[in-house]
Amino acid sequence: MQIGEIRVDAISDGTFVVHPTYFGDGVARPEFFARDGFAWLPIGCFLIRAGERTILVDAGLGPDQDELPEGMRLVGGQLFVGLGALGVAAGDITDVVITHFHTDHVGWLFDLAAEPVFPNAVIWYGAADWDYFVNGPGDIRAHIRDGLLAHADRQHPLTHDTAIAGGVSVVLTPGHTPGHLCLEIASGNESLLLLGDAITCPIQLSEPGWHSYGDVDAAAAQRSRDGLWERLRSTPGVGAHFPGLAAGRVGSGINWVTD
Ligand SMILES: [Zn+2]
Repeated sequence: MQIGEIRVDAISDGTFVVHPTYFGDGVARPEFFARDGFAWLPIGCFLIRAGERTILVDAGLGPDQDELPEGMRLVGGQLFVGLGALGVAAGDITDVVITHFHTDHVGWLFDLAAEPVFPNAVIWYGAADWDYFVNGPGDIRAHIRDGLLAHADRQHPLTHDTAIAGGVSVVLTPGHTPGHLCLEIASGNESLLLLGDAITCPIQLSEPGWHSYGDVDAAAAQRSRDGLWERLRSTPGVGAHFPGLAAGRVGSGINWVTD
């Protein structure tokens, strides 16, 4: 995707196999859960190239897998296939922006020795996620927690909406996690929202009762989703688990429109 002067590429780190109960009780859209009752969704990351900055948005699950209830699972490890295809090496990344601290978004931050995978990158995230996942009850892998604690001098915890590079701004969208953030990219007359997991799938537009299994605060998450649907009428957007990592927008009524 080209947003004015800024290049944005989608990369999947692997697969998220999703059961209907992820979205709540009584969910029934068999065409969406078409693979033996499961939907196979990507584990999305995005690479933003803006001027001198090479910004990775989310760090996938990493070379790892995660078994979840109801037969759901996450299988990662493919991020560097996508980065390599774009001609980008680990040392080229100047910034990593983490939309939230769930396991499938922080996996490549640190290796098993808690050393940075991206040696030249600073890390941006919502400060409230540090409190919930590093100091609080949130589930986080030990080597990721250790890496965050050991390398805090290379991090920017965010407490309010802010521009982190020319044309790249953070918008805090709490609910899915306390410090969840989205990114707004704007250049020339074009713009794009990177939604993280604030919206898991566009199907939630026509199924407003569907929440997301991982929502830490379901009511706040719903408020964030409602606000984003409004913004998505004028600005296209894509989330980390949207099918095909395809951007779209809210059309007239409640239609999700992809280009
Ligand atoms: Zn996720």
